[in-house]
Amino acid sequence: MVSNIRNKQTTQYPHSLAVTSITFLMYLRKKTQNMRKLCLVVATSLFVVSCSENHQTEPINNKNTLPMDVHSAYQNSDARVSHLNLSLKADFDAHILQGTATWDVVSNGADTLYLDTRGLDITDIVDENGKELTYELQDYDSVLGQPLSIYGVANVKKVAITYTTSPQAEAIQWLEPEGKTPFMFTQSQAILARTWIPCPDSPGWRFTYEATIDVPNHLLALMSAENATEKNDEGIYHFRMEQSIPSYLMALAIGDVSFAPLSNRAGVFAEEHILEAAAWEFAETEDMIVAAEGLYGDYDWERYDILVLPASFPFGGMENPRLTFATPTIIAGDRSLTSLVAHELAHSWSGNLVTNATWNDFWINEGFTVYFEHRIMEVVYGRDYAEMLSALSRTDLIEEVADFMETRPEDTRLKLDLEGRNPDDGVSRIAYDKGYFFLRLIEETVGRDRFDAFLKTYFQTHRFGVMTTEMFLDYLRDNLISDDEWNAVGVSEWVYGKGLPDNLPAVESTRFANVDEAVKMALDGNKPDNTDQWSTHEWLRFIQGIHDNLTGDGRGILTTLDDWYGFTESGNSEILAAWWQPVIKHQYTEAYPAMETFLVNVGRRKFLTPAYRALKETDQIDVAKAIYEKARPNYHAVSRQTMDALLNHPPA
Ligand SMILES: [Zn+2]
Repeated sequence: MVSNIRNKQTTQYPHSLAVTSITFLMYLRKKTQNMRKLCLVVATSLFVVSCSENHQTEPINNKNTLPMDVHSAYQNSDARVSHLNLSLKADFDAHILQGTATWDVVSNGADTLYLDTRGLDITDIVDENGKELTYELQDYDSVLGQPLSIYGVANVKKVAITYTTSPQAEAIQWLEPEGKTPFMFTQSQAILARTWIPCPDSPGWRFTYEATIDVPNHLLALMSAENATEKNDEGIYHFRMEQSIPSYLMALAIGDVSFAPLSNRAGVFAEEHILEAAAWEFAETEDMIVAAEGLYGDYDWERYDILVLPASFPFGGMENPRLTFATPTIIAGDRSLTSLVAHELAHSWSGNLVTNATWNDFWINEGFTVYFEHRIMEVVYGRDYAEMLSALSRTDLIEEVADFMETRPEDTRLKLDLEGRNPDDGVSRIAYDKGYFFLRLIEETVGRDRFDAFLKTYFQTHRFGVMTTEMFLDYLRDNLISDDEWNAVGVSEWVYGKGLPDNLPAVESTRFANVDEAVKMALDGNKPDNTDQWSTHEWLRFIQGIHDNLTGDGRGILTTLDDWYGFTESGNSEILAAWWQPVIKHQYTEAYPAMETFLVNVGRRKFLTPAYRALKETDQIDVAKAIYEKARPNYHAVSRQTMDALLNHPPA
């Protein structure tokens, strides 16, 4: 996922509900304590069984024990599931999905199967012979939802759960803009898959799936699976996903979209009016796949397609396997924001192939992916270009760490402790950029050749498996670095320490040095004349430099800059989002109508959080609230949740 929010505000949960969740988990933990060892042996062997049944997947190389996933009831289940057959009908009038999730069960002799759910209306559960099974939903927990216990599964091969999603299901956004065709999409990461599928909603467990989705017949359904590229008359679409995936990679989108090929294994889906622009913007995708394979081995998912979503999508991109979901805000018309494609593509190895075992190990997904992304960008666009990305990462990281050290210093550790909290709290620059610089430091310490050989083997050895922080550190010590190198890097301090170690790698960017000179000139009222060939990244550095160095009443300078460069009217969403910072700080109100239009139309959380926060922190909370009232209905639940907390807005 590309998100990179600055999440100063931690979501607070009512005390009693938090206690419920912890009590319930403690109960389950106690209950299973004695069974734990046996369970893990069974779990590991089950993995071998279930994976060997499915081609393209291999057993995990997991000698270590998986840790407790505090965000899933499934961890406590001795009965397991291996394959999902999903049959759903999408009702755009009622904003619901309705149908049946049929799971293949391996009971291991246990009587009860635990799955995760949230807000699902379950009508019945039957086995493979149609015999009804008794079940129970546990008390509602504000973080976990309602764990589902299905009883009497000891001799059962399948459980079929018939259910309806809630119109408020947090994963799903239903969009019916006036005069336009409807669109819906899901966002399952981190623990929202349970709001549309009763499932083992933990990144540590994988399954294969097939699905049948029934949609209005002028729309196309797409999933993180093998996809049709054209609509059919019936509006019924079949999907197969033969590579095993964890629940957070379950994805569905339905819209009036068309397909354009980019190469023989890559393509783009988008609404007709944006399809051509998207295909042009992403034309270098095949080059990126070739670069990625050259670095760390074959692409394991056959096809790599990109779906361009409506602007309300809360993230930059989501690495749903075979079908990246992407925000339209990266279509800048100059291919300057395609590092996002490199990022989502890199997830095909780091995250989708080798997956963080729990959300406390989130940096295992994102830190590796930022590292891999920068390496792909370096191959395709050169070191100079990639170093601009690294420099931006570094600035943002330092800023976020400083923020967090005041508010929640424990969250500056790579290895997180999110027990009793929403795992979305772990989505910060720490996992992404501190993770990136940790890996970069190892590369610089051992040399690039050794590190690349190590990473290639790491992905190959653990493909279709899970990884904890501790498993990685063991693997690192066994296969790459000596004790001296371990100490030189300061591995333990990087992973378990708060803040930023002193040996944070430096980034040298000559292109940014030129920009910094231009900032000085502009602040003196002289127009820099070397900006013609600037990329978006250089403009971002420029605006950041203005923001950091402009003191007193800055409205005059901002007006001049707007005359020179037309920032307020820019079609580039990254530039706009950066520009709102000095605009808000200096109350350059001429730009406020454009800012309001942007905030009402774009739902990408990375852009929203800094703008609303800046308004709040400069005593313009009334402006923030007035815009938010108009904008909130357009946002996905993921963004709403963050902004509600930031602006003290009562949740619906
Ligand atoms: Zn990511």
